Amino acid sequence: MNEIQSRMRALQQLLERYDTEYYLYDEPSVPDAEYDRLMKELRALEAAHPQWRDANSPTQRVSGIALATFGTVHHEQPMLSLDNVFNADDLNAFGRRVQERLFTNEAVTFCCEPKLDGLAVSILYEQGELVRAATRGDGVTGEDITQNVRTIRVIPLRLGGEHVPARIEVRGEVFMPKAGFERWNKQALVKGDKVFANPRNAAAGSLRQLDPAITAQRPLAFYAYGIGVVDEETALPDSHYARMQYLKQFGLPVCDEIRQVVGMGGCQDYHDDILAKRDALPFEIDGVVFKVDAIAQQQQLGFVSRAPRWAVAHKFPAQEELTRLNDVEFQV
Ligand code: NAD
Repeated sequence: MNEIQSRMRALQQLLERYDTEYYLYDEPSVPDAEYDRLMKELRALEAAHPQWRDANSPTQRVSGIALATFGTVHHEQPMLSLDNVFNADDLNAFGRRVQERLFTNEAVTFCCEPKLDGLAVSILYEQGELVRAATRGDGVTGEDITQNVRTIRVIPLRLGGEHVPARIEVRGEVFMPKAGFERWNKQALVKGDKVFANPRNAAAGSLRQLDPAITAQRPLAFYAYGIGVVDEETALPDSHYARMQYLKQFGLPVCDEIRQVVGMGGCQDYHDDILAKRDALPFEIDGVVFKVDAIAQQQQLGFVSRAPRWAVAHKFPAQEELTRLNDVEFQV
């Protein structure tokens, strides 16, 4: 094995270890930015040396672990992850790829959303009733967390409004708003309970409790950001943005910060705007997500193994890193 191959193997093993800490124990030992850097390095090495790429590499699959202690749920439509970009150049490259694949020179319309830092869940409603909820797990198999999700007050147990679909799977993020997270950690310190590293781990740890009574005590919230399976009789709106408004009319919470914009310029403005108000938002975010808005265009673009080609997450600089950077600047 040469030097590059051993670096690739080492990166893979390191990322697998970090995945276990993050997804299985909800206790990461390194900041997300460090994980993202290693992932980027591995992707670059695999792109340069595809002959040494392992089919089971963390770059090729949706990371996540479905605990056997919960019942398992097979996702009828896989729950994928998102590709990331970290700067304007990479974002523009994404925009160009989208236009090329759509064979268009016209600016594409995107739906922009905050990237909530929590846990992806799938919630199935039949005849308007919440019948099942699951984690993303590895994208194909998730954990049955129906009883826990039922305890989250903002999630309707029964859909309201007219023309409720016979069957609809709502996807979105369960998260712990900043105020609840801070309150919870303060109380935990006083009581000597476990303190959460960040709102993401707090949400994941709270949701994956075997006793729903414990989840019920945690200040969790939810925003819908997608639709999975739906019965054949239901005609959904033809844009992502319109679909989110459609979910709202049934009483499902959708983030107020979502916007439709045109082209990469519109996406960049949205990114700058949300980054500027990040601290003032009542929930933690780790970036923004851009989704090609027209469903017909999404279908044309399709998916790769772990993520759709029609969406990208533009990650913000990690807050841990910002703190460190600020310290350095201060010392200089
Ligand atoms: P991701 O978090 O980068 O992106 C996909 C997820 O974004 C979705 O599953 C969904 O839960 C979420 N999301 C939030 N808002 C959304 C919106 N509006 N629309 C669609 N999805 C939205 O991908 P991932 O595979 O869940 O996690 C990978 C990331 O997790 C890494 O980039 C890293 O930052 C972090 N991680 C860290 C460690 C560590 O040790 N620190 C380990 C593993 C993963």
